[in-house]
Amino acid sequence: MKAAITTTPGTVEVLDVPSPYVEDQALVALERMGLCGTDVKVLQGTVPVERPRILGHELVGFVVEPGPLGLVSAGQRVMVNPSLSCGHCRECRRGAPHRCSNGALLGRDVDGGFAELLAIGERQLHVVPDGVSSEASSSLQVLGTCVHAQHMIEVFPGQTAVVVGLGVSGFLMLQLLRARGIERVVGVTRAAWKQELAKELGAIAVATPDQAADVVADVTSGNGADVVVEAVGTTGTLAQAISLAGIGATVCLFGTITASKADALPFYDLYYKELTLRNPRAATASDYDEAIRLAASDIVQLRPLWTHGFALDEVAQAFEALNDPTALKVTLQA
Ligand SMILES: [Zn+2]
Ligand SMILES: [Zn+2]
Repeated sequence: MKAAITTTPGTVEVLDVPSPYVEDQALVALERMGLCGTDVKVLQGTVPVERPRILGHELVGFVVEPGPLGLVSAGQRVMVNPSLSCGHCRECRRGAPHRCSNGALLGRDVDGGFAELLAIGERQLHVVPDGVSSEASSSLQVLGTCVHAQHMIEVFPGQTAVVVGLGVSGFLMLQLLRARGIERVVGVTRAAWKQELAKELGAIAVATPDQAADVVADVTSGNGADVVVEAVGTTGTLAQAISLAGIGATVCLFGTITASKADALPFYDLYYKELTLRNPRAATASDYDEAIRLAASDIVQLRPLWTHGFALDEVAQAFEALNDPTALKVTLQA
């Protein structure tokens, strides 16, 4: 089968490799695969991985062979929970398999699914209803992680939230906050077209990073936001998230910061405002079930977030497209 493989940092190529071995697993024919910042970090080597490695963890496909448990049937469309867990470590035993100490992420720690076929345990599969379009389905995995993050944030009607950074996850966080009853969500982004989309998806106000302090002060009568979601993953945007937060607020650090040394953060704000900082990671099976329900019932719109599609053979172009200022979700089709 064909698979997109990185053999040296910075390069990815489509190679012919043996089809995966399927004993005790389901076999999935990939339909649509999403690219994200994690793939870029794996490709570039910012996140160290063993190579050669088949990339890819945002995966939707059709069941070819269902596997021995009978949890899915042949022909069903499924999304893949890409976080593998052992089932017996301390985290697994206390109901947090997404934090498994022996866990692995597809496309990073083990081979992923930028390929024609993927062999994977049936428990990792979630059935996707026909009502969710192929384009929309490419953001389900990200939505699952955003749902997981939302479970870690307490909100109450009447509060104000800010989302710093409007990429795919920022737009999903915005919609989830609205769906949870937060009517005042401010979206922070430089791009004018993203500001427009944010308003269409329910933002009460939008701002560039430079305008954010004034806009948030305006919307909150100077109190600062009750919830701030950082959805970029840099120390600079985290610093801004902390500064936009009001006293007693919750800051959700959703973007992944791989820097091992922090630039100066407004530490005194963390203390003085008595902030709660949450740093969610991955998602559980029930988060993915909820994500699929939210997408299938149109409570969260995924289709507007899909901007670019490429054939598997064009994986290098797909990675380049991530840098395109008009890009949100970029996908491959097998
Ligand atoms: Zn991803
Ligand atoms: Zn475990």
